[in-house]
Amino acid sequence: MGKKQSDMNRRQFLHKLGLGVAVMAMDPLSVLAGETNRPQTYGGGDGQSQMTYRVKHGSGDKVSLLGFGMMRLPDSQEEVNQLVDYAIAHGVNYFDTAPMYKGGHSETMTGTALSRHPREKYFVATKMSNQRENLWNYDDSRAMYEKSFRDLRVDYIDYYLLHSIGGGGVDAIKARFLDTGLLEFLLKEREAGRIRHLGFSYHGDVSAFDFLLDHQDEYHWDFAQIQMNYLDWRHASLNKSGWRQDADAEYLYNKLEKTGVQTVVMEPLRGGALARLDDELYQRLTALRPNDTPASWAFRWVGSHPNILTTLSGMNQMSHLEENVRTFSPLELCTEAENKILEEIADVMSGFPVIPCTTCHYCMPCPYGVDIPGNFAYYNEAVDQKILPLPDKQAADYMARKQQFADGLRQALPDASTWATQCVDCEECLKKCPQQIRIPNQMARIVETLRKR
Ligand code: SF4
Ligand code: SF4
Repeated sequence: MGKKQSDMNRRQFLHKLGLGVAVMAMDPLSVLAGETNRPQTYGGGDGQSQMTYRVKHGSGDKVSLLGFGMMRLPDSQEEVNQLVDYAIAHGVNYFDTAPMYKGGHSETMTGTALSRHPREKYFVATKMSNQRENLWNYDDSRAMYEKSFRDLRVDYIDYYLLHSIGGGGVDAIKARFLDTGLLEFLLKEREAGRIRHLGFSYHGDVSAFDFLLDHQDEYHWDFAQIQMNYLDWRHASLNKSGWRQDADAEYLYNKLEKTGVQTVVMEPLRGGALARLDDELYQRLTALRPNDTPASWAFRWVGSHPNILTTLSGMNQMSHLEENVRTFSPLELCTEAENKILEEIADVMSGFPVIPCTTCHYCMPCPYGVDIPGNFAYYNEAVDQKILPLPDKQAADYMARKQQFADGLRQALPDASTWATQCVDCEECLKKCPQQIRIPNQMARIVETLRKR
């Protein structure tokens, strides 16, 4: 696979991805500029596994194309150790955490597991988290930064990110990182080698994303993390579920590539939605590759893009890790025909009224006890099961479907004090959602579905 691909010239590679025409048409100069510095894909980086790797510009890090997202870890340190051991033994070497993940325990659990391995066996990524405005001052942020080193048990961080840039637009970046002097501090830390690569993760207002990249001459971002999957590629904008993300992943990816900034991908399965396809859509995939899961299709689609450095997957079960390792060992690029099918599936899915919640829990706790991700997960399940959307009020099964929805909610969330009906529209959760979901509006939608008539 590695040899085969390295023999491919640039035009053949783009053609195979089905990207050739689009990228060439977009900006021929940017394509030519990247020609000599193109990341390579090859298997067997550790001489044993068949993991696929990409090369980081500048440092030459050989980063596994499958990265381990440490947000949704199991509770037991022993289980985390086992997952990390398996990952490293099978060539995964990129581990992404943040001070706020897993209720503040992810960095410690990650550090405990990784420190049992030689330091050169892994790259660790963590972040200056951005969720609580009362921590936006210099001293508290410095303290958060220093604590990451202690919790991760390292004396340098391989990949450090400004966390979740985008909410609040350019003004929030200025208030959080520029006016406080924090970005200046982090740039100096990179110069000093305590941070090896500096980047940012982005959700939301595209003016913030553009602002950071348009100042590339000043900041020299080494990488950026974006939400990218075959559904968000062209369907991230306003849709029927009322969520807002200003830019399609296609725009973000192309701008990063043109600016020479390598991309780390989060949410390759869009919070799991692309791992649980509707039967009809699933059958279209199995007709082509009978043994492949929907998740492996989604990963192959992401990994087929050449400017991707790594693709994060939050794997809290050994079976998921094993399956993902298989998909990436080595990664088989999507063909043009396969890309076309995934594009058609995305078009169909974009018409589904699902709520794009990734169950990150950033919005929790709700002061009124609402289990926000739990309500949304059930709502999306009802869409999967075709209980929703409800038919026309005149339809014979209208009331039966409403009842089915209410019964299902009782089963999914037995404690009624966690239901959407408890939402008082206080908007406490609004600013915390990186997916820009208008949470109270969506709660009202669920309540409306539960009404008797
Ligand atoms: S708007 Fe509703 S869901 Fe959000 S925090 Fe307030 S009560 Fe909870
Ligand atoms: S509603 Fe938003 S913040 Fe809350 S769990 Fe879902 S994606 Fe995360």
